[in-house]
Amino acid sequence: MKTLILKPDEIDQAAEIIRNGGIVAMPTETVYGLAANALDGKAVAQIFKAKGRPMDNPLIVHVSDIAQAKTLVRSFPKEAEILAEKFWPGPLTIILPKADIIPDEVSAGLDTVAVRFPSDPVARKLISLSCPLAAPSANLSGSPSPTSAKHVIDDMDGRIDAIIDGGECKVGVESTVITLAGEKPRLLRPGGITAEQLREVIGEIEIDDAVVNPLKDGEKAASPGMKYKHYAPKANVILLRGTSEAYIAYVNSHNDDKTAALCYDEETGGLNVPYIVLGAENDMEMQAHNLFTALRQADKLGAETVYAHCPNREGVGLAIYNRIIRAAGFTIIQVSV
Ligand code: AMP
Ligand code: MG
Repeated sequence: MKTLILKPDEIDQAAEIIRNGGIVAMPTETVYGLAANALDGKAVAQIFKAKGRPMDNPLIVHVSDIAQAKTLVRSFPKEAEILAEKFWPGPLTIILPKADIIPDEVSAGLDTVAVRFPSDPVARKLISLSCPLAAPSANLSGSPSPTSAKHVIDDMDGRIDAIIDGGECKVGVESTVITLAGEKPRLLRPGGITAEQLREVIGEIEIDDAVVNPLKDGEKAASPGMKYKHYAPKANVILLRGTSEAYIAYVNSHNDDKTAALCYDEETGGLNVPYIVLGAENDMEMQAHNLFTALRQADKLGAETVYAHCPNREGVGLAIYNRIIRAAGFTIIQVSV
């Protein structure tokens, strides 16, 4: 299949492809999404095929206003109203009981559906010109999510109908996912909207254990995506927990030809291996923005082992930790000097 590369002003062509049952990669403020008509099970099935995504991992449906979100669910409780009012359009996904029009391919057989109203103007326009769009991240399943059109081309050229090149994604990590379908609001995936921000508007929320821990044997994932190895470059990622001094000392003493470091600005002076900078240590928004490009960059350097400095879990740090610990297959080494 030939993949068209479109500019944002060629969005009409993309909308037509979607209306005809095709699949298109679109920019969003989080990461690039691979979109199809969310109400057409056959169109949605192509997304799973192109990504190599397991069919039991449900998709997020993207809408262009709150009214459209309400057409996809059986109920829209008070907490959903408050969250939508405060954080939409933006990087927050809300899980609710699904309406019958949602095909099984989207919900992977669950009785719920994940809904998000993105803020990126290209994504919003594409939805307005077509329909609600089911869209997971536009990468091959398991690899780091794409935050530029170039990343999408690297993974998807020849596998999908078109890619809209809307430049770099602002946030750089996927949306925060909260479920309102259980007894208490529960955070299933941390993202650009932090747990602290959610608590400020709806009070106490639970944090799913799978956010920071591996699933135990036989345990069922509340969010099926959490059970798969994820976000991983080809290189072996190892997280080092400790001070900058200890991190630098450990990396330098484990240096061979195929080692690289994923580090903070402040650490570059001390490292004697090739490094990729995430941002300043206290600038977690910047680190989130750079994370997936950095993981892809590690492979470009030909690294076999990547030592990443373990982020703290405050604010957006929890989203970075959640991604990087999966990239590392939950391997953490405590380091000290
Ligand atoms: P991605 O599409 O790559 O951003 O991943 C979407 C994430 O949302 C995955 O971890 C899914 O398992 C999760 N998700 C989507 N729909 C649901 C749902 N109905 N219930 C629980 N988790 C969901
Ligand atoms: Mg994904």
